[in-house]
Amino acid sequence: MDVKTNFEVIVVGAGASGLLIAQGLKLNGIKATVYERESATTYLTRPREWGMSLHFGQNSLSKCIPPNLMSRMNEALCDPYDTERRTSWPLYNGQTGEKFFDMPGHNPIRVSHRKLRALLSEGIDIRYGKRLVKLSRTEASSSATAKFADGDTATAALIVGCEGAHSAVREALVGRERAVNTPIDVQVFNACWRLPADVALLQRKDSPVFRVGYHPAGMTWVSGIQDVKDPGDPTTFLFQQLLSWPGRPHAEDFPDQRSKVEFVKEKARIYAEPWKSAGLNIPEDTELHVDRIAIWKPDVTVDWASSCPLWPHVAVAGDAAHSMPPFRGQGLNNALTDAERIVSELVEVKHGIKSLGEAVRSYESEMKARGAKEVEISTVQSRMVHNWDTLMESPMMKAGMDAYKGDVGEYTKYLDQKVGKQAGSVS
Ligand SMILES: Cc1cc2nc3c(=O)[nH]c(=O)nc-3n(C[C@H](O)[C@H](O)[C@H](O)COP(=O)(O)OP(=O)(O)OC[C@H]3O[C@@H](n4cnc5c(N)ncnc54)[C@H](O)[C@@H]3O)c2cc1C
Repeated sequence: MDVKTNFEVIVVGAGASGLLIAQGLKLNGIKATVYERESATTYLTRPREWGMSLHFGQNSLSKCIPPNLMSRMNEALCDPYDTERRTSWPLYNGQTGEKFFDMPGHNPIRVSHRKLRALLSEGIDIRYGKRLVKLSRTEASSSATAKFADGDTATAALIVGCEGAHSAVREALVGRERAVNTPIDVQVFNACWRLPADVALLQRKDSPVFRVGYHPAGMTWVSGIQDVKDPGDPTTFLFQQLLSWPGRPHAEDFPDQRSKVEFVKEKARIYAEPWKSAGLNIPEDTELHVDRIAIWKPDVTVDWASSCPLWPHVAVAGDAAHSMPPFRGQGLNNALTDAERIVSELVEVKHGIKSLGEAVRSYESEMKARGAKEVEISTVQSRMVHNWDTLMESPMMKAGMDAYKGDVGEYTKYLDQKVGKQAGSVS
């Protein structure tokens, strides 16, 4: 196969990163097929849903999708009726309800995890029900083969693992032990529920799309609109509520669902409005999962060409390449940046400007440095926003939603001196 001019790409995982890579390759005349483990039905009906702040990633998005899809971006919005252009998100003292900061960002919007996938899936060749279980190299060494749980195989010059935080392609690149995520002692409840009309309207007063309430007791409560069926009927509004805390209680400390709902109500009682009424009105049958935050940082000192015999025929993007805490709203934005970067490198391969190895190396070098830094700074952010004494010094106060350009070491030194190793640090 002539890798310079005629090659195909397999993308594993139909999340935002995988779909944008497929869109970008298609736009540039490179054949890409996406293999997704979920069935065509469960892919669209999966129960867990959340909103994501999309800001600098919009730039990458616009470079990889055709103008007709870009003009339909409002379909991916949590509230498709909200047309206001913003320059920041409001941050509040959750105990008093006072706003203390407008966190700047590049036209931040809230997109739905589910709706964004639906939009980016359009026109893409997706094979559902294909769970990647194994990768191997072909005899000729000019391609790699993916094996799926149902026994099917697929071969291509490049397989890009976009299968999220538990990535088999990541494992192939760095080895099983090094691919493991590291837990952080921060717990999250992330769920969506509807509210009575008056409470729903209160949630949207002053900050109709998104707000974060930091509580002096060391908790954060992100709340935002998740879906609007009828803008004239507040009972159709769905809200995302993300409550996080360091240390205990851990998942095993909750005996049942009821105790989790009670926990939300107990915290709501010490929060100001609108979190108070959002929490007190949580439906009793809300299914709550305790998610423990975990991270994975690409090691910039490890050359994947040496650690993986399949290189350069395998690569990773998105959460598979860097898993970060959500408290700076960076995972999606970096996933989309990865997609745009890898597409632009592969276009150079198509035009014979670079070999596949040169392109993959160039992609990895930029992605690893950017991803590693963001994992570090998002981890620092995670520790600092769950501690009232350090909140006001946290990275978001300096960098807003933008990529952090400074020295992360300064923050870790400050934290270690000020609070030492505490709940919320890497365990
Ligand atoms: C609560 C929460 C809030 C967040 N808020 C923000 C935010 O505000 N801003 C932001 O930028 N980011 C945010 N993020 C992060 C963001 O959601 C992720 O970084 C982003 O969705 C990652 O996309 P991805 O394509 O890399 O992976 P995923 O979206 O995880 O997609 C991976 C896909 O691969 C499939 N898959 C998995 N294993 C296999 C396999 N073996 N074979 C085939 N397919 C497989 C999965 O089914 C899935 O469809 C948030 C995350 C969470 C959990």
